[in-house]
Amino acid sequence: MKEKEGIIYRSMGVSPIINAAGPISRYGGGRYRPQVVEAMAEAFMVPVQIDELNIQAGKKIAQMLGVESAFVSSGAAGGLVLQAAACIAGTDEAKMRRLPDSDGMKNEIVMQMCQRFAYDQSYLVGGGRIVEAGARESCSIEELESVFSERTAAAAYLFAGHACKEAVSFQAFCDVAHSKDIPVIVDAANFLPPRANMSRFMNEGADMVVFSGGKAVRGPQGAGILLGKAHLIEAARVNASPNNFVARSMKVSKEEIMGLLAAIETFINEDEGVENTRYMQMCSQAVDLLIEIPGVTVSIEHDQIDYLIPTVAIRFNEDWTGATEKQILSTLAGGNPPVFVRTLAGPGEIGIDPMNLNDETLELAVQKIREVLIGTNIDL
Ligand SMILES: *Cc1c(COP(=O)(O)O)cnc(C)c1O
Repeated sequence: MKEKEGIIYRSMGVSPIINAAGPISRYGGGRYRPQVVEAMAEAFMVPVQIDELNIQAGKKIAQMLGVESAFVSSGAAGGLVLQAAACIAGTDEAKMRRLPDSDGMKNEIVMQMCQRFAYDQSYLVGGGRIVEAGARESCSIEELESVFSERTAAAAYLFAGHACKEAVSFQAFCDVAHSKDIPVIVDAANFLPPRANMSRFMNEGADMVVFSGGKAVRGPQGAGILLGKAHLIEAARVNASPNNFVARSMKVSKEEIMGLLAAIETFINEDEGVENTRYMQMCSQAVDLLIEIPGVTVSIEHDQIDYLIPTVAIRFNEDWTGATEKQILSTLAGGNPPVFVRTLAGPGEIGIDPMNLNDETLELAVQKIREVLIGTNIDL
């Protein structure tokens, strides 16, 4: 990282970081694509009617992804609020005006207990009341069916690496919900690549799906991609800013909308094979420098669930005698520059996600990790 980089932050005492954790919001999200910055720069100074832009942007996204309808939400989290609001209030003005108070409305959102997640509070903001099916570790179809009632507004499904693997399959989930005329809403915010996932869940029966615009798509941090059936997307749009309803506080600006369009277009036209080869090479370089450290196992992981792009996994063996994982993370975070590594896999493993790195920052990150591991391993 060059000293002059990030001067705008350094001048106020905020240190630029090396983000080897992946497109995590806490560490700045995904690296902006140059095409996004260009589109935003062009869009900043020209006023337009936001309603018109929202409708046209939605059409363009739907067309690019081959789905029925789309809307640019305020992050994926803002999209979750709109999913709930659309299913509970629709375009009924009296109901829209009352949200998030939804007393007396059909407001229950069915979720499998094993798929409860950190972001599902957003459903409450949109007026939802979460009703859980099954147990902490699993859910059966019968357990799922038993929690639907005349108050059910939607059934929510999560696609994420950490989501319970014993959950009811998406197909069966959709079948149950649809047999009761209940829409299925999906959070797949961070479930990209593969690019095919962008249209997959709609094609497999979802009524609404949300993705982050600022994670792997690498568009504006504040943008989200909400896909869905036309009547639900229309309901989402009217509940959102600039209209004075529940999502008025989740504004998306005109330049963010244009930046997101550029990001999606660039993302879907990128060759995934070429991208994976590049990430694979970066990971190999890192592995070469870490593989000989005693007490850890270093590997490259890549699958369709937990490691969506090639990622370096550093696992601590039983004979590891160095610092605890917590100490390692805090030493890295307190260094100069601060380094943040991937911890999504849970305890016993830290990872290097190459998405936000270039050759230079990768090398620096690996060097810092080596220093911490070797410097604290008394067996060396
Ligand atoms: C990141 C994430 C969100 C929030 O996405 P934003 O675009 O940051 O609002 C929601 N759900 C899941 C599963 C996520 O990983």
